[in-house]
Amino acid sequence: MSDYIVTNGRTIAGDVPGLRPADRRESLGNAVDVEIRDGVIDRIVPAGEGDPDAFAADCRYDADGRLLTPPLIEPHVHLDATGTAGDPSWNDSGTLAEGIEVWAEYKKDITVDDILDRATKTVEWYASHGVTRIRTHADTTEPSLTTVEALVELKSRVSDLVDLQVVAFPQDGILTGESNEDLLSEAVEMGVDLVGAIPHNEYTREDGVKSVEIACDLAEKHDLPLDLHIDETDDPGSRFTEVLASESIKRGIGDRVTASHTTATHSYNNAYADKLISMLAESGVSVVTNPPDNSVLQGAYDDYPRRRGHTRIDELRAAGVTVGLGHDSVLDPWYHYGVADPLDAAFILAHYAHMAGRGDVEVLWEMLTAANAEIFGADDYGLAEGNEGSLVVYDSPDGFNALRRQAPRTLVLRDGKPIAETEPSTTTVHRSGGPVPVDYKR
Ligand SMILES: [Zn+2]
Repeated sequence: MSDYIVTNGRTIAGDVPGLRPADRRESLGNAVDVEIRDGVIDRIVPAGEGDPDAFAADCRYDADGRLLTPPLIEPHVHLDATGTAGDPSWNDSGTLAEGIEVWAEYKKDITVDDILDRATKTVEWYASHGVTRIRTHADTTEPSLTTVEALVELKSRVSDLVDLQVVAFPQDGILTGESNEDLLSEAVEMGVDLVGAIPHNEYTREDGVKSVEIACDLAEKHDLPLDLHIDETDDPGSRFTEVLASESIKRGIGDRVTASHTTATHSYNNAYADKLISMLAESGVSVVTNPPDNSVLQGAYDDYPRRRGHTRIDELRAAGVTVGLGHDSVLDPWYHYGVADPLDAAFILAHYAHMAGRGDVEVLWEMLTAANAEIFGADDYGLAEGNEGSLVVYDSPDGFNALRRQAPRTLVLRDGKPIAETEPSTTTVHRSGGPVPVDYKR
């Protein structure tokens, strides 16, 4: 915990409650000074009204009119598989199924040290991009629980950078292997934070329904929340999200349940989608969409035209469902690219979900920050006095240009301490009259 001041930062429009300084302009947020004491936001005042002299010289940062947001949150990633893309083979078909096959081959010889090395590197990438909370899935299916052991160990190893949640995730299904149900139960005893399932990957519809019930029973028994990979397919007949919503309503646990992916929603007929979205809204279940993976995995079985495969973000939000935005994969068999930057995921979503309008900018930021924070269960989150002294400064004047350029994060502050800094690079073009520095800002 420490004291720190950031002066002249520019917030996303309207995200500091109650603060409306005179210089507020359309599409730009508030110009503010943020004073942090003992790791907590003590004061947020209009720019120029803060007191930098009250802080040590190395605990002052002039944002110089740049964008300032609360820290970013990654609500969905697989840190056990990160960094394995191409090993032992690439996913040439681009399907979820081949990704699972490649991963099954890799994990035969997996070790704790191997996972820790790859995952630590990816967490450092995340922190450099302003992420201070990560929810990772850990494969609990055969042959072993090495992935769970490693990712539970990782929590303390990276606690100086991020809060890490681990989901016990039965990648191959709960009822598809003789010991998978026992392994899931065992994993839950090893210090995980949530229980998962993957009903669309079970052998039958009946097994899929049963797998949701098993996961809910296990979560209730251990008083844990749930995060299920669910209906991550183009098959409109895959209808397990309704089972999860139904169980959540009957058990009264919806506010602790996340439905990840739900890409089949894209392919449902509108009458059924309307019923399902109403159930989700009633249940309180949140949804996480994962644009990088689902932009390449969905539609892989289609002839032309090829479907997109994101969940129905606009309709879910209109119904009051919280919709978060995750990355899912960083350099793994399901998605070969990635640098662990949530702005990458938002940029892809802007295109694939037809969210490229100017009015969508605030929605994307709301998903990246407040919605993800709600899903993660982040306490004391957001730019308000009394909340955690954590924030991110971008080399951008506003939220639109930060997304457009995936702007470098010049400062990442966590509980009043810098955990990452980036010096933006410079580029020069050699004109006939001499060198000219390139200004990508607009
Ligand atoms: Zn996933």
